[in-house]
Amino acid sequence: MNKVLIIKYGEIALKGMNKPYFERVLMERIRKAIKSFKDASVWRYEGVVFARTDDSDRLEEMAVEISKVFGVATVSIAAEVESDPETIFADAAEYMKEIRKEQVISTFKVEAKRSNKQFPIISPEIARRAGAAILKTCNDDPDYQLRVNVHEPDCLLFMDVRRDKTYIYHDKIAGFGGLPLGTNGKGLILLSGGIDSPTAAWMMAKRGMTIEAIHFHSYPFTSDRAKEKVLDLAEILAGYCGRIKVHCINLLEIQQAINEHCPEEQMTILSRRFMMKIAERLAREVKADVLITGENIGQVASQTVQGLVVTDNAVEIPVMRPLIAMDKVDIMAIAQKIGTFETSIQPFEDCCTVFLPKHPSTKPKLESILESESHLDGEALIEKAMAGTEVYTVNPNQN
Ligand code: ATP
Ligand code: MG
Repeated sequence: MNKVLIIKYGEIALKGMNKPYFERVLMERIRKAIKSFKDASVWRYEGVVFARTDDSDRLEEMAVEISKVFGVATVSIAAEVESDPETIFADAAEYMKEIRKEQVISTFKVEAKRSNKQFPIISPEIARRAGAAILKTCNDDPDYQLRVNVHEPDCLLFMDVRRDKTYIYHDKIAGFGGLPLGTNGKGLILLSGGIDSPTAAWMMAKRGMTIEAIHFHSYPFTSDRAKEKVLDLAEILAGYCGRIKVHCINLLEIQQAINEHCPEEQMTILSRRFMMKIAERLAREVKADVLITGENIGQVASQTVQGLVVTDNAVEIPVMRPLIAMDKVDIMAIAQKIGTFETSIQPFEDCCTVFLPKHPSTKPKLESILESESHLDGEALIEKAMAGTEVYTVNPNQN
């Protein structure tokens, strides 16, 4: 039987007037995701998106790649047969026989949908006749009998009868949902080597936002390996977001200046304000609409509400913090699901830890922070740090 992929999308279906635009971008994204598969193609047929490849051994692999495209709700591998009232029941029985060789299935239910109203048999009757054909064909082994169970079947078999073709399938690979990449502006993620910021970037990309990254290090106090870890994380993210540019900036001179001229307990908050200011300038240069951070209320000293207010005050550009109210366990679960967790927990130093104060201020006062900043030549420090920017273009892992 000829096999194709049936791709269903979630939220895009609710888009009303803009639906064709979202569908078009989604198809482009899927096309991009499968371009390494032999003669792969994507098409729409009566409101559903389909894909196929000549490389039939790699169909499942292709389904997994498509399930990672934002906007996709589910992907199913379906048998494509002729919409012929004489043969679709035999085809359904054949299909069930095949999958029973691979999986233990003792009970089943058929759900039929007749999108083609010209088809001479109504949906409940299609399901009933397919069920009968399946029972007849599959029950030749007395030790491996198949029964119908409409409440809790081991296998729910779908039959989608369309004009020319009928699609028979049973399994769904869950996608991430969301909206196609590129449909919702551009964000500059402040990317550390931690668990939170890659997760935050992924969550915004899932809402359709294109991603570019900025990373701060304190070389030679932080190692090259710490920077490589961030590029490794960017590579994993690129698997979802496409190629990512990472701008790496050395914060060491700024940290040294703060260390020399400002109260020790303000180190963290002052360096975070510098990070935000530099990120804001870069965002204007690369035409990013917003900054994104992995900040989360109450997680560490600099992330008290007062700390966040003072950090936020450093910039005018909107800052999106998709993890703000999440619990750490839930953030970790997402990091695991998207594959960044194992890399994030590798123990490499972060620039924030270089001058970590013993007692960081948890309730910084804006006036006092601004007073401290007046002792620094902020403009010169920022310009110098930005002049030394190194840019890396990170592609998705190709293996
Ligand atoms: P993460 O796990 O993302 O590092 P965190 O819980 O360790 O977050 P902080 O170290 O306070 O929290 O950082 C808060 C946010 O500030 C990060 O999520 C990230 O967006 C940004 N940030 C922190 N350090 C860096 C860095 N070295 N380069 C770029 N952004 C950074
Ligand atoms: Mg961190």
